[in-house]
Amino acid sequence: MNTLPNDCVCVPVSRGELIVSPSLAVYCAVYADEVEALHRHLADADVPLSDALQERLEKHGFWGNPRPLRPSRHLLQFQVTNACNLRCAYCSADSGCARANEIGLDDVKRVIDDVLEVHPDLDVSFSGGEPLIVPWLFDAIDYALMRTKHVGMLSNLLLLDRSDVLLDKVVERMKRDMNVQMSFAAADREVCDRLSGAARYDTGMRVLKKLEARGVYPKIDLMLSAPDAQANIDAFADFRRSLREDAKISLGFLYPCGRETGEHVFRNEDDCEHVLDELTFLGGVSIPAPKVECVTYRRLGCQCIEHENLFIRSDGGVFSCFKMVEQFGHISEGIKHVIARRRQSPHKAADLAMCCKCPFVSLCASGCRADNLILERSVRAPICGEWRVRLLAEMLFEDRPYVMDWSVPHQLEEAKKRGIKTPEFVIVGTQSSLVSAQ
Ligand code: SF4
Ligand code: SF4
Repeated sequence: MNTLPNDCVCVPVSRGELIVSPSLAVYCAVYADEVEALHRHLADADVPLSDALQERLEKHGFWGNPRPLRPSRHLLQFQVTNACNLRCAYCSADSGCARANEIGLDDVKRVIDDVLEVHPDLDVSFSGGEPLIVPWLFDAIDYALMRTKHVGMLSNLLLLDRSDVLLDKVVERMKRDMNVQMSFAAADREVCDRLSGAARYDTGMRVLKKLEARGVYPKIDLMLSAPDAQANIDAFADFRRSLREDAKISLGFLYPCGRETGEHVFRNEDDCEHVLDELTFLGGVSIPAPKVECVTYRRLGCQCIEHENLFIRSDGGVFSCFKMVEQFGHISEGIKHVIARRRQSPHKAADLAMCCKCPFVSLCASGCRADNLILERSVRAPICGEWRVRLLAEMLFEDRPYVMDWSVPHQLEEAKKRGIKTPEFVIVGTQSSLVSAQ
């Protein structure tokens, strides 16, 4: 008979217990009528487990190797400028004007070369502000296309409406496999223009027609703002019909950062799911539901740090993630030096006082480091307590490991919905969004 790992922990849930092995990073539901037998087995391995439980443990990876880390490519993203032709109300970069001392072409080339020495399989992307404002952008893109296969740009593309020269430059790079994501603030014209502070919708649609006529088409990045959810739902079918039939759309949910203080953020996952369901129904598109899964990936800590992602702010500041809240250094120090220093501070969950003894240390791994900083002002202090451990246990019991990707406010809401006692938190602003109400 297979034996369970020595480090197994049992966490009580409403329908029995959840057994977890932190060393293997696996979990499995144990129903109420199986709990006693499991505990006898854990005390004496000669006591047999039922066939049904053994089978379930096998499916959940208990007799296998430790779960691997989530595979990922390394991402290097440049915010080439903070200047923007729009003023979106929710802009996470708080873009508008250029910063003093913004990076230049030589900086970009040097950083790409240095990071490629550390990560030869690099994805490079350019964003802003509005990247097309930067005069040397196409030289930077050409350099990146020469050095690596995966190059992308995130832009509102509106400047292409006024300049065929710019349009042709973008088309030429897209034909050389540069991925372009074009952002829209909403599927509804009025909402899109209101949130962007400009007549964005019609201009954007005109640009899309011009690109289509030249044989290329960007991926559409559609933002979903919570107060405008119904307007987006109502407008989505028409929006979809205005695009090329095979257009790919990615949907973006907002988070408190930059200019976004929470006003446009969905309060819970049910509201997000409702919008996605409606968009699927009305738009005739398929949006994959979160997967019910027996196994998930191992996590050691924040995934951006784990995968050594790099975000270069337009003033040369170096960050691990697109939220750009925790600065690790500056490109003037030499990017390899910054990477080496960051490796010394991986913020592994196993090293945190709060998480090291938690049964979910290799599954939750203290959540998102930037969220911890935004919400609790410390990367080393996840918002946690018995409520979060209980919620994760309940949802893993249901084979819903995606709960670990939810933001803390959404986890809090779900815990409340399930009758789990939670501390009282209220959202009060961007830099310390959650504070105890007491
Ligand atoms: S969200 Fe994008 S388009 Fe809007 S202001 Fe920010 S950078 Fe500009
Ligand atoms: S944040 Fe909470 S649930 Fe997650 S690993 Fe740390 S203690 Fe455990």
